[in-house]
Amino acid sequence: MDRPTIIAGNWKHNPDRNLGESLWREVAAGTMSRIPAGEHNPPVKVVIFPPTPWLGWLVSREGLECLGNGFPESAVLEIGMQEISDRPVGAYTGEVGAELAHQFGARWTLVGHSERRIHFGETDEDVARRLTAAVDHGLCPLLCIGETSEERDAGRTFEVVSHQLEVGLSRFDKKHEYAIAYEPVWAIGTGRTATVEQVEDVHQHLRELLQKKIGSASDGIPILYGGSVKPDNARDLLGLDVVDGALVGGASLKAASFLEILDAGIATA
Ligand code: PEP
Repeated sequence: MDRPTIIAGNWKHNPDRNLGESLWREVAAGTMSRIPAGEHNPPVKVVIFPPTPWLGWLVSREGLECLGNGFPESAVLEIGMQEISDRPVGAYTGEVGAELAHQFGARWTLVGHSERRIHFGETDEDVARRLTAAVDHGLCPLLCIGETSEERDAGRTFEVVSHQLEVGLSRFDKKHEYAIAYEPVWAIGTGRTATVEQVEDVHQHLRELLQKKIGSASDGIPILYGGSVKPDNARDLLGLDVVDGALVGGASLKAASFLEILDAGIATA
């Protein structure tokens, strides 16, 4: 089964008010000029995960105008949350949940990013609850999993990612739609990219796990790689049959480098 190639940009806690607008304008224009608009199931799609304050602007009239006539019909360029609450709408000060995010234009959410696990103590159980909250309100979750360097050195990579996947998906059944990002913690924001062999091994393992877990329903679930993806390594990584896209942090903050990675995704799709 053909899965779309997804090139995702995680802006993290960047960019500021001035930079974000020009970044979006360039990314939107560059995406729309590369991928025909109006396709409901495009072979390559772009998802941007901005910080929450940007969400409203990106889907405002001004933000949408940057897509030319590619919006709203097209699924070529979509927006996601970096994090969602697992709480319902109500008296939960500081929270933003899937229901509100969806109303304001989000179609995706990251869940279980290692920075959330490390800095904010998110557990696999939290991840499982957030995944359910996402799909209950129409967001497609991108579940992030990956081992630390100590875990890799101890030969525990498969064990760790299998556990994260197993517990993370424990509240799901076959019909749920989601995507997975394999992101070795030691490769995120460090400039150290996993080798093609390391990526291939883990992705193959994850694909087999999904197949065992949910059978042919797993064929439609994209598995992305994330961890210091840059223009100069994107083609090798995206060229692997078992890699269905990239989750890009640092290199997504410069339109030119993000669009070069998108070009690699288009060339290898
Ligand atoms: C990420 O934030 O998910 C990520 C992979 O970051 P970077 O590309 O900077 O390593």
